[in-house]
Amino acid sequence: MRTKLVAVLAGALVAIAGTAGAQGTPAAQGTPAQGKPAAGAKAPAAAKGKTEVTWWGHAAFVVRTPGGATIAIDPWLTNPKAPQGAAQPEALDAILLTHGHFDHVGEAKALAQKTGAKVFGSFELINLLGLPEAQAVGGNVGGTFKVKDATIHLVEAVHSSSYQADPKAPAQYAGSALGYVVAIDGGPTLYHAGDTGPFEGMSLIATQFKPTVAMLPIGGHFTMGPAEAAQAARLLKVQSVVPMHYGTFPLLQGNPDALRGELKKLRGPAKVVDFEIGKPTAL
Ligand SMILES: [Zn+2]
Repeated sequence: MRTKLVAVLAGALVAIAGTAGAQGTPAAQGTPAQGKPAAGAKAPAAAKGKTEVTWWGHAAFVVRTPGGATIAIDPWLTNPKAPQGAAQPEALDAILLTHGHFDHVGEAKALAQKTGAKVFGSFELINLLGLPEAQAVGGNVGGTFKVKDATIHLVEAVHSSSYQADPKAPAQYAGSALGYVVAIDGGPTLYHAGDTGPFEGMSLIATQFKPTVAMLPIGGHFTMGPAEAAQAARLLKVQSVVPMHYGTFPLLQGNPDALRGELKKLRGPAKVVDFEIGKPTAL
């Protein structure tokens, strides 16, 4: 049953991957992406019974579940690769932050203020953000939370975390970096690795949560590159890898084709699924 579901999912994702182009050349930080098609003014509601995931470039995703939960992960929605002219989400139930670096916290505070969303992250990071108490959900590795039909698990990541509230002041310690597993009732189980290198605990994530789709950084320099991400896919036992955190800046040189090559060497089942930035993908 599970095998069949995974096969169907993998097939759908491969079909989508076929329509997605390369993500273009890296743009300098703060420079708007050129030649990017403008996304629709308003994202359509999730198709009935489907989970829809929209990549905003870099590590930013917006997930809409069949039960009506809208969840933003690392919402740096003004990153250099973000779809031009796209309307930012008007309604959010939850914002998940993997760590405190600016390219992951992004516009979380403004989005929380606009939507009333609960903001999840490490205890230390959430304290530094100074959110209203009702919206601040500081947790740590091992924590599990429910948002409508999504069960959210905070998991390990191997990375640093600091947050700089004031550009003139030093960055402050922001707790452990995190990854997230988002298990959707009757739908896919997504794993967003945040910024990380590969680590043995990914085997435990596979055993415990059985993720079906992994969003993995592949840019290198600050995170895994393609070779390490292929090892991560093997440890996670996932069928589908959505590459992220590449091409945003010139330093992040990994690319999906390099990941394909590395996965081929390992002869594992995982396939690379390129999400088209700004286009909702049904899972
Ligand atoms: Zn980082």
